[in-house]
Amino acid sequence: MAKILVTDPIHEDALRKLEELGEVVVLEDADEEEIREHVRDADAWVVRSGTRVTRELIEEAKNLKVIARAGVGVDNIDVKAATERGIIVVNAPESSSISVAEHTMGLILALARKIPQADRSVRRGEWDRKRFMGVELAGKTLGLIGLGRIGQQVAKRAKAFEMEVTAYDPYIPEKVAEELGVELVDELEELLERADVVSIHVPLTEETEGMIGEEELKRMKSSAFLVNCARGKIVDEEALIKALKEGWIAGAALDVFAEEPPGEDHPLYELDNVVLTPHIGGSTGEAQRAAGLIVAREIERVLKG
Ligand code: NAD
Repeated sequence: MAKILVTDPIHEDALRKLEELGEVVVLEDADEEEIREHVRDADAWVVRSGTRVTRELIEEAKNLKVIARAGVGVDNIDVKAATERGIIVVNAPESSSISVAEHTMGLILALARKIPQADRSVRRGEWDRKRFMGVELAGKTLGLIGLGRIGQQVAKRAKAFEMEVTAYDPYIPEKVAEELGVELVDELEELLERADVVSIHVPLTEETEGMIGEEELKRMKSSAFLVNCARGKIVDEEALIKALKEGWIAGAALDVFAEEPPGEDHPLYELDNVVLTPHIGGSTGEAQRAAGLIVAREIERVLKG
């Protein structure tokens, strides 16, 4: 019977599915020593973002055939070490696309209508309706940087809000954009100059790290908002803070940060024109269930050959 080791919490429906495939060992808050003990004879290993799957642990495993991240990305897994030993690494990149897209829409609405600031004000006993004059999304232009899985879901939702949607993504086929009614632009500069809301949906790569810096922020309209639900380092945080303080743009909403958590007295906390959430774009029951079930299916495929 195959042994399936689970070292981060996963959805119970996925656990049930895994139990059909073998003996499931769930470790909660395990230290490295405990994981090392259990990984030795495991056939499959399921993690989310909490466990660091290091070369050392991988080399300890004698039977391991598959490492599964029940979520998006594999940054906590030493994929090179796994590949060297013929261990397959799988994840569930599509599992949280809708959740992240919905969170993005939430952040856009929060910025447009100053919802978090208004909430704080009412709780202080104020009733200041003039301060919270907002803007409508209908008729405004959304500029998507990246039109992949999440970008496409955001596009659909923004269309329902009657926004014009443009996107900069040199790698996506024109047909994908056409079918969504999205206008693809060839230059990032054009998107930045035209958009009332710029939303980032590219992966963090050498090419995208620091993609939004001083020059790009200065190109944006002073009335525009920036939303980042992708990865913190895509935006130069220092430049963004300057842009927000000096009014180059009207506001920003961030689910991700260069360092997570951003630290106790981060300068962003002082600014009233930012909305901050703690990397929760994909944090819904639905996304977690989907991620668990997708990787359970992948594990089944590998274990059953
Ligand atoms: P995806 O791979 O489906 O789409 C990314 C798109 O970016 C692709 O279409 C690609 O062509 C495009 N792209 C790549 N480099 C580019 C560049 N230099 N300029 C313009 N476009 C470029 O990925 P996805 O599933 O849509 O996810 C996007 C990102 O969202 C992920 O990489 C991840 O960092 C982030 N994410 C965040 C959360 C969260 O909780 N906030 C959850 C899941 C994913």
